[in-house]
Amino acid sequence: MLHLNCISINILPAILIIITQTYLGRPSFRFRPTTTPDMVIFCYMGLSLFLLLLLETIRKLITFWPESVNRSVHTFIYVLYFSLLYAPSSIYLLYASYHLNGSIHRIKSILKFLIPVNIAILLVSASAPWTGFLYRIDERNTYIRSTGFFIFITLLFLLTLIGILFVMSGKKRHHIKMIRTLLVFPAIIILAGGTQILIYGISIVWPFSIMFVVIAAMNIQKNQKHIDHLTGLYNRRSFDYSLSVEIERSRRYASPLSLILLDIDHFKAINDEYGHSVGDQILSQIAGILTMVVRSTDFAARWGGEEFAILMPESVQEEAAAVAETLRARIENYTFVNDIRVTMSFGVAQWLKLGSKSLWFRRTDRALYRAKRFGRNRVEQCLWISAISANDTHLHWKKEYETGYKEVDKEHRRLIAIASRILRRPDSPNKLNQSKLDLKEILQTHFTHEEKLMRHYDYPQRTQHMKVHQQLLEQSLEAFSEIERGFYENFHFFLIEDLLIRHLFDLDRHLAEFLKRQTPAPDSLLQP
Ligand code: GH3
Ligand code: MG
Ligand code: MG
Repeated sequence: MLHLNCISINILPAILIIITQTYLGRPSFRFRPTTTPDMVIFCYMGLSLFLLLLLETIRKLITFWPESVNRSVHTFIYVLYFSLLYAPSSIYLLYASYHLNGSIHRIKSILKFLIPVNIAILLVSASAPWTGFLYRIDERNTYIRSTGFFIFITLLFLLTLIGILFVMSGKKRHHIKMIRTLLVFPAIIILAGGTQILIYGISIVWPFSIMFVVIAAMNIQKNQKHIDHLTGLYNRRSFDYSLSVEIERSRRYASPLSLILLDIDHFKAINDEYGHSVGDQILSQIAGILTMVVRSTDFAARWGGEEFAILMPESVQEEAAAVAETLRARIENYTFVNDIRVTMSFGVAQWLKLGSKSLWFRRTDRALYRAKRFGRNRVEQCLWISAISANDTHLHWKKEYETGYKEVDKEHRRLIAIASRILRRPDSPNKLNQSKLDLKEILQTHFTHEEKLMRHYDYPQRTQHMKVHQQLLEQSLEAFSEIERGFYENFHFFLIEDLLIRHLFDLDRHLAEFLKRQTPAPDSLLQP
């Protein structure tokens, strides 16, 4: 009866391993773009534990029925068993590393240490039948430990201890829950393994390890939903979620929040020249740089093909632009796979209460577009922050905009009010149509008024200013026709960047300063 109990304690976890593997999908033993690295690591962990449980069961069977197999088969079972003993702890190190750093490159450098260690273990185990260093199989086909066994196990504990130290070193950067789940495996090895050494004959380490397999499977399933498999960064889905949370926080506590969009320059050419798989490696290396540079409270994600996004809570636009500049320089100076050099362009914009999430993205994207247009490998910021404070709910009229001419000032106030109103509901078709009608009504008259004043006083920058008016009128017609076609990508930018920031807050301010120095013209000048 006792025999059967000893054997069945191994069978149940072995079945559980198969169940957890199939639960996560088709096992994959190679790094492929369709599987996350932790999934691959998990498959090896499952396989090594499964084999150890199997060997453990056979070991037990032979112990109870020594006559069932001959000595050489028995010895071979032990060679296999000892060869595999370091595998779970080694694979665990890879698993922990991936969870702590999210990078494939770290895994590769740890492998450089683990592969020789495991080859050494294999050699020691394979030569054990001749050296008798680890164990002996006596004439009655019974297994007897030798002194080398204890050295072998002590070193295994040491490897496990390295795992613990490694995980603890990530304590500051990661949530305690994650650290705790990572520590389950070394805890089992040390506690169950220690017990196993003290109480000769019981085997509980590998059956107990199933706890870690189950936890790891749950973690992987949770992560698969949030992680981009190629780069190890967050995917768009989890980015969207964090975005909503951070916007809510920023609204509630009036804390600054900034966004960086970054896009690889001429990436298509790199793919064409070196192939897609080199392109993929570059994407992954860039992700590594992002992870190193951004703070742990920032949120870096793969936004699309070769475009990334970084969400930066508690950062004003200027701070985010400084981080973008650091990244830009790092990437420019980094030597990628095959000695390839890569540059990236960056768009930066701070969240504004006056606006919407989608408009925020369009503002950032506009900045990125400008970076591309101005020659790439550069950082461009959204201009809006110069006119709209992050937590304002409307645009403010400032004394310096006053020209002293009632009509013109009224029109300027009206333009600012129209902009404020549309920004409160930037994506509402009704508001867009209303703003379009309001602007249609006011723009031409307003420009005519200003031009009358400029002519009257022979304003030195008159020609230039009038040319801008003409351009703005043309742009407005384009923007209006886009709204009529149900498309309003450009309307907000025409209104805020061209009409307000570049014109009213800049050109017209100079005009206002000029007009204030002149003897006031009669109000009748502006009458039709
Ligand atoms: P620009 O400087 O204007 O951004 O030029 P670009 O060539 O980077 O831009 P474009 O948008 O024309 O091309 C993006 C390219 O990125 C196209 C596609 O081949 C490549 N790409 C997108 N996703 C992936 C990916 O997952 N892996 C690889 N290797 N290439 C990708
Ligand atoms: Mg690109
Ligand atoms: Mg003007």
